[in-house]
Amino acid sequence: MSGNRTLTMIKPDGVRDGHIGAILNDINAAGFRIVAMKMTQLTKAKAGEFYAVHAERPFYGELVDFMSSGPIVAAILEKDNAVADFRTLIGATNPANAEPGTLRAKYAKSMGENAVHGSDSDENAAIEGAFHFAGVEMF
Ligand code: UDP
Ligand code: MG
Repeated sequence: MSGNRTLTMIKPDGVRDGHIGAILNDINAAGFRIVAMKMTQLTKAKAGEFYAVHAERPFYGELVDFMSSGPIVAAILEKDNAVADFRTLIGATNPANAEPGTLRAKYAKSMGENAVHGSDSDENAAIEGAFHFAGVEMF
């Protein structure tokens, strides 16, 4: 994956609350092209692997339980400056601090259940893209 791609997940709360369509619409309206997408559910082991960087943090157990609690929608998004622009679109980790109009301001409920994931670097975007998708699933 090159520097113009990022990996997103609509988290279990976003799916449970019926926001898949609205979130994908906002993503397209912001100029991102969907180059891979699937609905899936992470096992606890896979959720733990995805968030392994946070393994020592106090919220890790809750995060793994939450992220494996129901289906998610994973997607790779393409746009110039994709990682940074998508972080701007999703807003702050805590929706209480997220700018109005951002995905977390619109669809998230709490710091833990915050509706959407976005990669934090080009390097992690590539790792996270490969975590969810095989090369033949990327268009
Ligand atoms: N998280 C949490 N409590 C915290 C910080 C993070 O529950 O104090 C959860 C939240 O779902 C967040 C995820 O862990 O999205 C990953 O944390 P990170 O700091 O990477 O935030 P993000 O990159 O998602 O904004
Ligand atoms: Mg992060």
